[in-house]
Amino acid sequence: MIVIETALGIAQACAESSRPLGLVPTMGALHDGHLALVKRARQENQTVVATIFVNPTQFGPQEDLAAYPRDRERDLGLFRQQGVDLVFTPAVDEIYPPGFDTWVDVGALGDRLEGARRPGHFRGVATVVTKLFTLARPDRAYFGQKDGQQLAVIRRLTRDLNLGLEIVAVPTVRDPDGLAQSSRNAYLTPSQREAAPVVYRALRRAEELWNNGVIDAGQLRAEVKAVLEAEPLVESIDYVSVAGGESLEELDQLPRSGQIRAMVSVAVMMGRTRLIDNVILE
Ligand code: AMP
Repeated sequence: MIVIETALGIAQACAESSRPLGLVPTMGALHDGHLALVKRARQENQTVVATIFVNPTQFGPQEDLAAYPRDRERDLGLFRQQGVDLVFTPAVDEIYPPGFDTWVDVGALGDRLEGARRPGHFRGVATVVTKLFTLARPDRAYFGQKDGQQLAVIRRLTRDLNLGLEIVAVPTVRDPDGLAQSSRNAYLTPSQREAAPVVYRALRRAEELWNNGVIDAGQLRAEVKAVLEAEPLVESIDYVSVAGGESLEELDQLPRSGQIRAMVSVAVMMGRTRLIDNVILE
C-alpha cells in the first residue's frame, strides 16, 4: 500500500494503475461502514484508492471541524488489512491552495434537508468529491446509503457534469442494536448511546406502516416523529422527511408502483451530537 500526500502524486499514481480503478472517499476515523465500501471496491476493481481528508469546506462555522475524530495510523492499518493499493491523505492546502475559488454548486437538491440545516455543506462535499474524481479518474466510486442525500447529490453532479464514472451505493452498516455506524457516535455519552437506536426504530416504524399499505406520507412523518418524541434523550428533531425520486422533494403520497422510490430520513440532536439515518421504501 502506498500513501500519497500530494495532488500531483495521486494523479500520477492513478494514471499508472491497472483498471478498473475504484475510489473510496472518507474523512477517516474508520468503522465497519467505511470498510464495507472498501470491501466492495476490492471485489470489483483491479486498483482500490481510498482517501482520508477531513474536508473543511463542508463544515459550518459552528460545527465540529476541530473536534472531528482523527487517527491516521489506525486508519492506515485498517486500509492495509483490506488490501487497499493507494491512500491519498492530503493536507488542506493541497486541496485548497491559496487563491482557490471555484465551487461546484449542486442547486436545489443541495438546499433541502441536510442542506437547509447546514448551509454550504453540499457545495463543500460536491467540490471536494469533484476534485477527487478529477485527480483519480476512477471507473467507480463508492458511497454509503447512510448519507442518502449526499449519495443523491453525487449521482446528480456525476450526471450533470458528464463525469462518466459509476457511482456505487453501499447499504448502511449498523451496530447489532440498529444504530447506524458513524464516526460521530464517538461523541455520545453511555446513556445517549443506549438511547440512540430509537432513530432506526422510528425509521422501521415507517417501513412497517408502508408494508401494511399506508401510502399517506404525512401519516408516516407523524408516526416516525411520535417514536422519536417518546425518547427523552432526543433533545430536538431537525427533520422527518418522506421524499421521493432523485430530487428528494417531499411527497404527499407514496407511489404504489413504478420506479420512484421514497427515502424516509431523519436528523435529531442527542445532546450536542447530531444523528442522521434513513431507510429506502421500494
Ligand atoms: P465519512 O467518513 O463520514 O465522510 O464517510 C465516508 C463514506 O462512508 C461515505 O460514503 C459514507 O456514506 C460512508 N458511510 C459512513 N457511515 C456508513 C455506514 N454506517 N454504512 C455504510 N456507509 C457508511
